[in-house]
Amino acid sequence: MRGPGGESGASFRCIGCRLDVPIAAPGTAHRNHCPHCLASRHVDGRTPGDRANTCRGRMLAVSSTVRDNGEWALVHQCLECGTLKLNRIAGDDNALALLRIALRPLADSRIGWRALFAL
Ligand SMILES: [Zn+2]
Ligand SMILES: [Zn+2]
Repeated sequence: MRGPGGESGASFRCIGCRLDVPIAAPGTAHRNHCPHCLASRHVDGRTPGDRANTCRGRMLAVSSTVRDNGEWALVHQCLECGTLKLNRIAGDDNALALLRIALRPLADSRIGWRALFAL
C-alpha cells in the first residue's frame, strides 16, 4: 500500500477556499473534494484516487445525481479542460452546499446527459 501520492500525508489544501482538508473521510476511501465548498482538483484519471491526470485544474461541483444503487454523487466539471467527473459524497460534506447544488437547475442541460459518459 502506498500513501496518497503528491499530498503531504493526511491532508490537502482546498483549491477553492484554502481549507486544510483531511484525506480520511466518513463514507469514502478517496476524498477528493472539499467538504466546505465542494471544490476539487483535476488529478484523477479513470479510477478515483489514481492521481493519473496531470491537468491539476480547478473542478467545481456543477450538479448532483443519484446512482443506480441510490448513492448520491456530485458532478464536478474541470474549469481548465471541461472534463466531467462523478464523485462520491463524503459523510461530512457541507449539507447546505450539497442542497444548494441539488436544487440548482442545470444551466446547461447537456451536463447531466454528458455525466452519464463519465460513469
Ligand atoms: Zn473548499
Ligand atoms: Zn482538467
